[in-house]
Amino acid sequence: MSRQVYISGKLVPAEQATVSVFDHGLLYGDGVFEGLRSYQGKVFRLEQHVERLYESARAIRLDMPMSREEMFAAINNTVKANGIKDGYIRAVVTRGAGTLGLDPNRCSNPQVIIIADTIALYPKEFYDNGLELITASVIRNHPAALSPRIKSLNYLNNILAKIEGQKAGCVEALMLNHKGEVAECTGDNIFLVKHGRLTTPPLDAGILEGITRNAVLELAREAGIEVAESPLTKHDVYVADEAFLTGTAAEIVPVVKVDDRPIGSGKPGAVTKDLTERFHKLVRE
Ligand code: PMP
Repeated sequence: MSRQVYISGKLVPAEQATVSVFDHGLLYGDGVFEGLRSYQGKVFRLEQHVERLYESARAIRLDMPMSREEMFAAINNTVKANGIKDGYIRAVVTRGAGTLGLDPNRCSNPQVIIIADTIALYPKEFYDNGLELITASVIRNHPAALSPRIKSLNYLNNILAKIEGQKAGCVEALMLNHKGEVAECTGDNIFLVKHGRLTTPPLDAGILEGITRNAVLELAREAGIEVAESPLTKHDVYVADEAFLTGTAAEIVPVVKVDDRPIGSGKPGAVTKDLTERFHKLVRE
C-alpha cells in the first residue's frame, strides 16, 4: 500500500499529493507547521501540538481553514491510514497559492498537509554516550523580527546554524539570542543541571515553547527536582554538571561536550538519565 498523504481535505496516494508552484509556503516560507510523534498508534500531546499550530497561524494572521476538532481527526486519520504505530507526523499549513508578489491577501486557499511517516531517530550511541555541540555564530532570530515562538515554514535561521554545526562534525548547534544568552538548538530545546537544579532558558529568551520541554518541566517538578526557567549564558553551559536537549523527534538526548569542552564528567549524568526514564514511562502510558 502506498503512503497516504492528507491534502486538500482528503487522503491521497503520496505521488498525487502536490502543491502549486505559486503557493506562498514555497515562494516565501509563508506558513506554519508542527512535528508530532505517535507512540503505539496514539499521538503524544496532540491537543498541545494543535494549539501551538493554531497559535502560530494566528501570529502570522493566517485563518485556519478548519476547526481544531477537524484537525485532530485529520491527523488521527492520517496516522491510521498509514498503519503507523511508532511514527512521526508533520502537519503543514501554507498561505496557499497566490501571485508572485508578497501580498498574502492574494492567496485564497490555505493548504493543510499532513504526512505520517516512520521515525528517523538519532543513533543509539548519542543516547548512550551523549552528543557534542558547537555554538553557532548565527544567532536565533530577534523576536521583533520573527518570533521564535512561531513555528513557521521559514527555518533558514536554524538551517544556517545547523550547517555550522555539521561543518564542525556536530548534528546539532547551540544558538544564542541577540543578547548573547543561550536560546536553544536548531530543532531542540536545551536544559542544564547544576548542583541538582534543572534550568532551561525562559520563553522570552526567544525560543520555541517545546512540547517536550514542557513535559520535562512537569516531570522534573513531579520528581521533586528544583526547576527554573531563567536566562543562561555560555558560561553556565561550560560549567554545568549535565546538559541535555529535548524535542519531539529526539525526546531527551544527553549533551557531553560543547565547543570542545566536556560538560560535567563528560558522560550522561544522573538527572538526565532519571528524566529520560520518566519520559519513556510517560509516553508509554
Ligand atoms: N526548538 C525548535 C527551533 C524546534 O524546531 C523544535 C521542534 N523541532 C523544538 C525546539 C522542540 O520542540 P518540541 O519539543 O515541541 O518538538
